[in-house]
Amino acid sequence: MSDAELVLRSTRVITPEGTRAASVTVAGGTITAVLPYDADVPAGARLEDLGDDVLLPGLVDTHVHVNDPGRTEWEGFWTATRAAAAGGVTTLIDMPLNSVPPTTTVDHLRTKRHVARDKAHVDVGFWGGALPDNVKDLRPLHDAGVFGFKAFLSPSGVDEFPHLDQEQLARSLAEIAGFGGLLIVHAEDPHHLAAAPQQGGPKYADFLASRPRDAEDTAIAHLIAQAKRLDARVHVLHLSSGDALPLIAAARAEGVRITVETCPHYLTLTAEEVPDGASEFKCCPPIREAANQDLLWQALADGTIDCVVTDHSPSTADLKTDDFATAWGGISGLQLSLPAVWTQARARGHGLEDVVRWMSASTARLAGLDRKGAIEAGRDADFAVLAPDQTFTVDPAALQHRNRVTAYAGRTLCGVVKSTWLRGERIVADGAFTEPKGRLLGRTD
Ligand SMILES: [Zn+2]
Repeated sequence: MSDAELVLRSTRVITPEGTRAASVTVAGGTITAVLPYDADVPAGARLEDLGDDVLLPGLVDTHVHVNDPGRTEWEGFWTATRAAAAGGVTTLIDMPLNSVPPTTTVDHLRTKRHVARDKAHVDVGFWGGALPDNVKDLRPLHDAGVFGFKAFLSPSGVDEFPHLDQEQLARSLAEIAGFGGLLIVHAEDPHHLAAAPQQGGPKYADFLASRPRDAEDTAIAHLIAQAKRLDARVHVLHLSSGDALPLIAAARAEGVRITVETCPHYLTLTAEEVPDGASEFKCCPPIREAANQDLLWQALADGTIDCVVTDHSPSTADLKTDDFATAWGGISGLQLSLPAVWTQARARGHGLEDVVRWMSASTARLAGLDRKGAIEAGRDADFAVLAPDQTFTVDPAALQHRNRVTAYAGRTLCGVVKSTWLRGERIVADGAFTEPKGRLLGRTD
């Protein structure tokens, strides 16, 4: 590899074959080889010796609400992608809702891409949205490069993104299956939600009771039935209910094409510890009990859950009132997802290889991003450099997202991201950022 421009050397490089001491050569933004640790540095190449810090593939976060344009007081491409870069995330895929317009027509997609273009510190892609009345827009959006389509089965929280009933779901899913697309679903059943006690107020236990596990379980059962009937590819977003796991495992065993993600907050925070009135912990579906959390970890270990993504969904602080019924639901975790998950994963006996599989390799595969998600020749030279044993206490003032509300404030986490690299360029190190170098990605198939 005489044309290598850069060599990143570490005693711990996480590759698809495991962790090993290696020298990773980079040319033109692409990984050209993973060589033995003490390989000669090619003439003209710059050596970056990372010592014992771990070199891992940049994370691919397929569930981020950037809200830009339209709700830029909540978040935006500039701030969200800086938070991503600071947290070792090198690719994010933006959700179609909470921006105005939502990503539900090709025109809207064009607007979003235009807004994102000069602000992206990391690579950015887009999900489309499936609404009751946009079936005709799905194929054009697919052709324009969205990675798949998001649908809600219960109210989304914003008027411009209505949910699908079962008949509408069937219609959209049939259309999407027709061109080999992917439907990603917020799975809570509206009838079960309506039947649950809706107390309101500041008590977390009341909020939890208002979004019961069986609302998720039922919606997932319906989704599985539709996917099976249509031989469609579906993905369950932000799974919280551990009770749905046997259903999912059984569907997979039968050959249903279903994948599943969960989120750092479900894996690291528990209902028992949420203070009353603390709506920075509110999201839907909700953070559940510790015993439920154990089921999610078990499912990550046995492969029933594929991915861990943030569902980063900020709002302004004033919408985070102390009434759980009316406060905005969404947790801002983009910058902290790697240390949050790693802290809990290692306490449960997992290695960083597992974290990389859940947060980079599997998410890249979900989106079909075959240049992302692994340190191997031919992939983009996107990396996070992590000091895995170093701890820090979360100070909201150090976060890059627009509204520094966080459920992780004051927590001590393990794993400090020292630098993040995008296509062979260091985009952030020790809190200093370069100008935006991210690209807008489209689906490739
Ligand atoms: Zn979301």
